[in-house]
Amino acid sequence: MPLDKELLDILACPKCKGDIILTKKGNGLICKACMLVYEVKDDIPIMLIEEAKKLDKLPDEAI
Ligand SMILES: [Zn+2]
Repeated sequence: MPLDKELLDILACPKCKGDIILTKKGNGLICKACMLVYEVKDDIPIMLIEEAKKLDKLPDEAI
């Protein structure tokens, strides 16, 4: 089951408290401000700064 809209509305970037965007594949949550991707494992978002991956550039869905 994909992450639902309600959950996405509740979630925020733990670093900047800003909005996050679901990736096209649904396997990550992007914070545009921090250029970080939080991984989604088994439909559970891992909202930890130390677990997030740094982005070199934003994917298309985040622009
Ligand atoms: Zn952020």
